[in-house]
Amino acid sequence: MTALTYRYCTLTDVGLRRSNNQDSGYASPRMLVLADGMGGAAAGDLASSITMEALREIDRDLDPVTDGTVLDALTDAVSIANHRLGEVIRDNPLVEGMGTTLDAMYWDGEKLGVAHIGDSRIYRFRDGKLTQISTDHTYVQSLIEEGRLTSAEARVHPHRSLLLRAILGRDDLEPDFTWLQPAAGDRYLLCSDGLSDMVADEIIERSLRLETIDASATELVRAALEAGGFDNITVVLAEFVAMTEPLDENLSCSDGRVQVVGSAAENPQPRSGLVTSTPNEPFKAPSQSEPLDPEELRYAPRPAPRFRWLRISVAALAIALGTASATAFAYDWSQKQYFVSDNNGTVAIYRGVDASLPGLTLKSVEQMTDVEVASLPSYSRQRVQDGITATSRAQAEQIVTDLKSQVRETEPTPTPTAKSSRGPRLEAPTTPRPTQGTP
Ligand code: CA
Repeated sequence: MTALTYRYCTLTDVGLRRSNNQDSGYASPRMLVLADGMGGAAAGDLASSITMEALREIDRDLDPVTDGTVLDALTDAVSIANHRLGEVIRDNPLVEGMGTTLDAMYWDGEKLGVAHIGDSRIYRFRDGKLTQISTDHTYVQSLIEEGRLTSAEARVHPHRSLLLRAILGRDDLEPDFTWLQPAAGDRYLLCSDGLSDMVADEIIERSLRLETIDASATELVRAALEAGGFDNITVVLAEFVAMTEPLDENLSCSDGRVQVVGSAAENPQPRSGLVTSTPNEPFKAPSQSEPLDPEELRYAPRPAPRFRWLRISVAALAIALGTASATAFAYDWSQKQYFVSDNNGTVAIYRGVDASLPGLTLKSVEQMTDVEVASLPSYSRQRVQDGITATSRAQAEQIVTDLKSQVRETEPTPTPTAKSSRGPRLEAPTTPRPTQGTP
């Protein structure tokens, strides 16, 4: 078998709507990494750069010959990144909800070890054809897999940005790990959703046909900007070649140096309990009148359960053990809470908290709905079965309204494009994202 090596390059652009870059890109002779930070301007860049640093430590320190397999090292690095994010969040509660996607590839000289979590993508370009290697960890992807949505419908779905998995500094970390076997001539593309959401696969494929990966990277970023550039755009590209092939000195990797772009190149730090993306600009909390950026919401599909259960446990304990006044206070607090949960197969709004004590009920059904739990997509069904907390009756009703809209998605959608998962994407590259028009 011919011994292989690869050329590499990475390129990023802040895009046309955002003020800072929360993506990080990295390319070296051994490793390719892309992280798309989330959680708002205050924290997304920090999350992606912390994660990038944990991965870079492998690139510096790992000896695949003596240190065991690459996948073990990647598993450790993702866990370390998750742990560090958790620590930063604990020390800086204002960044709660920050997180990042991650795609990482490590070349051990024969094959690529791959780590993937989130909705950043890995594509392979082989024999002129583009294939998506990674599976998006998104709500709409789960609907596609359940046969409730086509890829074309997913592309314009109002909740298409909602992630089900990411590195969030929490215990529920579920990355995918795998091996890939490159062949001479293969190109691998790692990209953030600032490219894949804006540009159809057919245009990505066409861009990868250009003679050099440097030209392809430039063309990909240009295409995303031309389509609107609604988000940060980052690409990391590699092309596998025979080890004996001479290296063109005009290529960006001809000096053999590591390339770092985006927030990881700026090394953002948490300061004074706050995090800023621009060191000289004070952190500004969004005011009520400012529309929320959907990007800030996409990565926290549910509140961190630890706080919810802590509050419920403290209330239950106060009622069980406390003085009369503490008991009265805790009971009173519990009866101002609401949650949406399963009542014999039907979605119901409950008042109180989902905990029980001997001789005392802390919850009662406030309102039954006509939503069958079984009619919901599996992700939402699980959330209902776990109980979705609400801080008011109105919020509980909004949760039910959202659930109802998901039931409608289960009805067959007559559409001429329903049988094709790829064709319609050609029509959509420049369609603005309706929920993202608030830079
Ligand atoms: Ca993004």
